This record gives sequence, C-alpha cells and structure tokens, in this order.
Amino acid sequence: MTTLKTSIEKLPHIGPRYVLCLKKLGIKTAGDLIFHFPFRYDDFSDFRNISDVGVGEVVSVKGEIVEIRNVRTRRRRMTLTEAVVEDDSGAIQVIWFNQPFITNNLKAGMSVSLSGKVAFAKEGLQLSSPAYEVLGKSGLHTGRLVPVYHETEGVSSKWLRAHIKPLMWLTDSIEEFLPAEVLEKQDLLDMHEAIRQIHFPEDTTGAKLAKRRLAFDELFLVQLYMQRQRQKWQGQKAVEIKYSKGLEAEIKYFLEKLPFKLTDGQKIAIWKIIKDMEKDSPMNRLLEGDVGSGKTLVALLAVLAVVRSGYQALIMAPTEILARQHFAESIKRFSGTNIRIALLTGSESRFFDGREENDLTKEKILSIIKKGEVDLVIGTHALIQEKVSFKNLALSVVDEQHRFGIEQRAQTQNEIADVEDVLKMTVPHLLSMTATPIPRTLALTVYGDLDLSVLNEMPKGRQKIITKLVASGNRDNTYDFIRDEIKSGRQVFVICPLIEESDILEVKSATEEFERLSKEIYPDFQIGLLHGKMKPKEKEDMMKKFAENRINILVSTSVVEVGIDIPNATVMLIEGADRFGLAQLHQFRGRVGRGEYQSYCFLFTDSTSSKTHRRLKALIESDNGFDLAQKDLELRGPGELVGVRQSGLPDLAMASLSDSELIQATREEAQIVLEKDPDLKKYPKLLKKIESFEKDVHLE
Ligand code: ADP
Ligand code: MG
Repeated sequence: MTTLKTSIEKLPHIGPRYVLCLKKLGIKTAGDLIFHFPFRYDDFSDFRNISDVGVGEVVSVKGEIVEIRNVRTRRRRMTLTEAVVEDDSGAIQVIWFNQPFITNNLKAGMSVSLSGKVAFAKEGLQLSSPAYEVLGKSGLHTGRLVPVYHETEGVSSKWLRAHIKPLMWLTDSIEEFLPAEVLEKQDLLDMHEAIRQIHFPEDTTGAKLAKRRLAFDELFLVQLYMQRQRQKWQGQKAVEIKYSKGLEAEIKYFLEKLPFKLTDGQKIAIWKIIKDMEKDSPMNRLLEGDVGSGKTLVALLAVLAVVRSGYQALIMAPTEILARQHFAESIKRFSGTNIRIALLTGSESRFFDGREENDLTKEKILSIIKKGEVDLVIGTHALIQEKVSFKNLALSVVDEQHRFGIEQRAQTQNEIADVEDVLKMTVPHLLSMTATPIPRTLALTVYGDLDLSVLNEMPKGRQKIITKLVASGNRDNTYDFIRDEIKSGRQVFVICPLIEESDILEVKSATEEFERLSKEIYPDFQIGLLHGKMKPKEKEDMMKKFAENRINILVSTSVVEVGIDIPNATVMLIEGADRFGLAQLHQFRGRVGRGEYQSYCFLFTDSTSSKTHRRLKALIESDNGFDLAQKDLELRGPGELVGVRQSGLPDLAMASLSDSELIQATREEAQIVLEKDPDLKKYPKLLKKIESFEKDVHLE
C-alpha cells in the first residue's frame, strides 16, 4: 500500500527518467511530492461564454473542438497547432506553437476546457497557447486556480499537478503536530485541509488560508528551534563577571583615555553585556552595526571587564587580515594597561606583553596561553578548530558572524563550549558581531537564539561619502576622475556585478574586467584581482598587497570580505549596481571613507528603468544600513537580504519573513509552549517534528 514514505520509484506512472528529475527537486517519496508546494497560481477561474471574451483578458472557456490540425510554417520552421472551439454562444480560434503532440490528445468532436489569454489575430479573437484538458476529467489545468510549481527539466507543473492530485488522499495520514490550543487560538486550517487547499484551492481565500497555515508551521518550528537552542545554551554554566567598584573604576579610566566619546548605542550595548556577564549562565549576544559603527570598541570593553576579573578572552575574525587589524587596535587601546595580547593565525604568531610587541613561535604562544600568561587571544576562526587550550577562558568574541547560517552558528557554539581550559564546568560568554544590519522583526527570527544589541548611529564627525549614480555612457568622466585620485596617491575598489546563477561566470566577468582595466583604461597603474575561486592564502596575499598600497586598483567579485580598514582607499566603484540590494551596496560603500580623505562611491548601471534608478537613489539619500535594509525588505523581499538568504531557513518561512504579524504570532506561541512544557513531554508529536527539523538543520 502507498504511504507517505513510499519511494517515488514505486508509485504508478512514474518512470525511471522522472525519478531522476524529481530527485533534483529533492523529491524522493510520495510525502515529498505532496510537500512540494506551488509558489503561485494561474487564476483560470473566470469561466466565460465564448462570445463574452475580450482581448487581453485571461479567461477559461468550455466548448467542442470543431476542427484541429498541425501546420508547418515554411519561413520559421515551426509547427502550429490550429483549432476552432465552439460553445452555444460562439466560436474562437486557438493556436499552440511547437507542440504537435497536442493533436494526439485533442481531436475534433471532443469537449474541452481551455484557459489562457485572449489575443487579437488576423481573423478575429484567438486563444494563444492556452492550457487545455478534456472535459469530464478532473479540472486540474484549466477553469480554476491552477497551481504553478518550481519545475526542473522534464518535470513541468502540468506533470506535477497530474501526479500530485491522485496522492491527495494520503493527506489523511499526515500527523497534526501543532498543539490543539495553538490551532484553535490562531484559527488555522487543519493540516489535511491546508495541504489540499495549497495544491488545489477552492478560491483565493482557500489558497491564502492554506499558505498561512503552512507558513505558520515552518516559522513556528524555526522559532521553537531558536528558543530551544537558547534554552540549551543558557542551561550551561558560565563564570560570573561581577561588576565591582574596582571594575567600574577601570572602565572609567579606559574611557577617559579614549580620544572620543562613546555613542549612545555603544553605551547601551556595553551595559547590556556587563549585565549578561554577571549571570552564571553564558551570554549569547549579537552586536549589529554598520561598518565603522564601533563594534570592536564595545568588544574591547567586554574584554577589559573579563580580564580585570582575572579571566582570559578570545576574539575570532574570519580572515587573517581582520585578525591583524583587531590585534593592532587592541594594542592601541590597551597600551598602558598591562593587558597581554597574542595574535595567532595561519601565518603569524605575535605577542604583546603589555609594553612591546614581538614574534614568538606558535608553540611558545600556545604554551603561554595555556599557562594563563596571555589575557587576550586574537586569531582566525581556524584557531578554535585547532583546539587551543586556555587556562580560564571566560569570553569569546566572534566577528562578522553574518556569514554563518543557523547551522554553522550552532556549530560555533559547540566549538566554543568545547574549548579546553581548567574551568571544566563552564562555557565562555559569547559575543557575536555583524556588519550586516537586518530589520529587527527579521532578526528576531533569523537570530532568534541570540539577544540583540544594535549600534544604530555612527560616531560623530564621520565624513560623508559622496555617492553618484553613473549611467554606462558616462564612464569616461568617472575614469578620468579616478585617474586623478590615483595620481594623488589614493586607491580604488572595483566591484563586479553579482551573477547569481554561477560562480564561474562571476569569476569570468571579474577576470575580464580586470583585463580590460589593465590593458585599455589604466595600463600605467598596478591592478589586482580578487575572487572567490582563489585559495584563502592567495586572497590574503592580495588584500595585503592592497593594504600596503602596492596596487592602485583592486578588482573583485562581490564575495570579498567586509570590515577591512584601508584608510587610503577613497573610491568604491560598483559595476552592475542594480543587481545588488541596497544594504549590500551600502556595505561596499563602507569600505571607503575610513581615513582623512574625501571618499566616493560610484554606482554604475546599464539599467534604464526609472524604478531601478529610484531604488539606487536611496543610497544617495541615506547612509544608515538599517534603513536601507528595511527598504530592501519592502522592495525586494526578505530572501534578497544578505544575512537572511544564507540563514538556511526553509522556503515558506523565508518567504513569510515580511509578515511581521505571523512572525510575532509564531514567536509567542513557541514561547508559550516552551514555558508550559520546556521538554515538550506533553507534545510528543511536536517533539518528534522539532527533533527531525533539528536533524535537517544540522545535516544540510
Ligand atoms: P566596526 O567594527 O563596527 O566596523 P570599528 O570598531 O572598527 O568599527 O570602529 C571604526 C573606528 O572608529 C575605529 O578606529 C574605532 O577606534 C573608532 N571608534 C569607535 N567608536 C568610536 C566613537 N564613539 N567615536 C569615534 N570613533 C570611534
Ligand atoms: Mg569590524
């Protein structure tokens, strides 16, 4: 007997060729097929008398085929299938292109239902390439809201409809995992009804209710997952960093020495962190703020608190260059405090003993870390994977956390919890930092396992970067301007267009741009190329060269690191700017304007659409990453936001992230359930479901 678990090979009418194609869509069982939801519908529910149809309308008609035949066109070598269909009110011509097999299925005299757009042809009105089916059959492809699915080669929506429909009876065996009180309070369709309606809705309301129910499921599971992760993390022990009078004085002294005042956001963030670290359960906080908003300084204050309480701290950066940058900044800020700092990366091992900085061997550094003779360790992520042993690690800072999806985040947490030291029973407090601002409602879902602090304003006195939109025809002026900048000693970033479909194409286009600039535009300048297919070491070397001003122009794909401080770079040129989200463009822009010189961001675009121009103009008007991310969310949807796209959320959850009402509802219900029953003992079906969800997250 067929069940949800029956593999598709065993289903009737699915040949081996289709089995392979379906696997590409991730469909392996009958259940998978049922859970392959349409992403939209063709509204063919408008049945008309043939005499009532008008040009440009999408309609459905029923009638009898009067004649049908295939015709070869001589000029363009196409096969046309021409037909006339008639009902009591009149007749209409029908035409299909290059589908000669249609005449195998449809014959004169048959009654058919047709859905499609009405066009005007030489001899009157015509239905052009309509969907069709023989009347008396199920009413699957015409005359209703017709589901349209993600397809793959060989598997069309039509095929999917025909094979999903006969499995609909299986919905009866799907277990309802949502608690009854949640179903009732949120007024949700039951599971069986939702699945039937998502595929073959009675009307648009039915489709909407079904989508709400199924999106609720995914978001609810995501929220539950996040909160269980939070529970698990907080269930561990951490050392309490007591905010003593002595510590207060230390912090005051540190702040007085700074050549600037903290922003309000920084003050609030550091206060929250201090409060978090006073507890005996580990902190897990995310600090969100634009490039240059001063996240590192907040982290250093947290480090100060921990070190002054007698414990060690760790800062991890995604690249060696960033690690080196943090090392330099830490030495600068901590000079005169006796704090001992080590830098440990693949290629460097250095030690600052509170007064001076030296190279030491890696072994030596590892051994003094273990003995507790280093207070702050700075390194790349690879560092903890190599299992450095500490004496008493109480704080880990992870910079640029945004590149990790939910599953990598869970992994980082595990690794940090596993770091070896003598404090066997505790895990370090964890502070993550990201320069990818995400609107708050989204962050509550995507980062629902973390507490959130936001740096929403830039330190005072930052220069404004002059941003300009440049139509492709006006390149030359900009190239001349750039030439002058380089001649005065400045440096330039060139970002190549994003090509979603293919890394290889993206690398190719960057390589071509590199050649073009080197040979045609700036043969007299040093130009470097950076892309994602290069080895980490090659990338590091190239960045280093640029940082040391040994190249004038760095051409790069969109994959390169944020957060790198190159004060001498004053121009950010972005090719194909229309392909990027505003928040991402803003991040690119944040890489210039970090020194004393006036800086510029040029947005190149071939697009002539006024909508695109209006969108890009938002960058000229705003220099706030959160506002721009919010605009992206409204204009392009959540899936286009950097940091959300990589999150690893399931499709419907992702698509529903702009529905703040639904987010709120799922979050609340997940909280209520877990408060009532933290181990989900009373909800065995839900427990089973969330455990399998957790497994999926960790396998992907
Ligand atoms: P982020 O890591 O958020 O990109 P950084 O922490 O690297 O930003 O800060 C950028 C620069 O701004 C650093 O040189 C830092 O010392 C400085 N800075 C930090 N906070 C302030 C402030 N409140 N006022 C002025 N400058 C600041
Ligand atoms: Mg930073």
